[in-house]
Amino acid sequence: VSSQVGCTLNCTFCHTGTQPLVRNLTAAEIVAQVQVARDELGEWPSPKEDRRLSNIVFMGMGEPLYNLDSVADAIDIIADNEGIAISRRRITVSTSGVVPELRALGERTQAMLAISLHATNDALRDELVPLNRKYPIAGLMAGIRAYPGLGNARRVTFEYVMLKGVNDSPAEARALVKLLSGVPAKINLIPFNPWPGSPYACSDWGAIEAFAAVLNRAGYASPIRTPRGRDILAACGQLKSDSEKERASVRRARERAAGLQKTPEAAPAPGNEP
Ligand code: SF4
Repeated sequence: VSSQVGCTLNCTFCHTGTQPLVRNLTAAEIVAQVQVARDELGEWPSPKEDRRLSNIVFMGMGEPLYNLDSVADAIDIIADNEGIAISRRRITVSTSGVVPELRALGERTQAMLAISLHATNDALRDELVPLNRKYPIAGLMAGIRAYPGLGNARRVTFEYVMLKGVNDSPAEARALVKLLSGVPAKINLIPFNPWPGSPYACSDWGAIEAFAAVLNRAGYASPIRTPRGRDILAACGQLKSDSEKERASVRRARERAAGLQKTPEAAPAPGNEP
């Protein structure tokens, strides 16, 4: 599910990131995405067992830790037994590495943590995930090691997009093993989903398998994600839409035309606003 419309970050492999932030989603809008998926799966009212919607990942459009209040409220509703009753252990929040918010995320949501890593050294990660310039890898790893509740039953998922000739060598796989040493982790290898004008290509299948083999030998589960939705530009990192932030003056004009804006006479007297 998404947490924002657009994104303030500009990860260079991500088409979604080329869409400027329009706004944060509300908790209701986040929960509604789950409800729409359940409706599509025919899970309404919610069955107690054999659910087809079994896991939720905050990994759509936007950076969830820049909208933590709404994300935390949405998770409370999704996890509540009187709500959708999906266990917090089945809810994962993926971040590009907003280090100062990691602890609050863990304490407020008890959600599983995923990190959009993609590189093992600061020079390359600065380029792929520019937020790294603000929160470099060493501090990020320290924040991850301190994530509340971390353990073998609650591993961190590291996402690693496979970019041909950029981050996909066996040496980089070995560097990744070294970087993650001591962190209960699994690694998702994501074949790059190309988009018009992107500067990268997807790694060859052989390179992805060789990379995964290094991780497997070191004892890490490292599934290669099956790309889904590429044909409609809706796969991972391809969620750019046509929404744009509306200028306040345009919005006021539109609301006036629709008769929605309060006239000055109808506006509450100062001090009486709700
Ligand atoms: S990968 Fe996530 S955080 Fe980075 S630009 Fe894309 S949507 Fe934003």
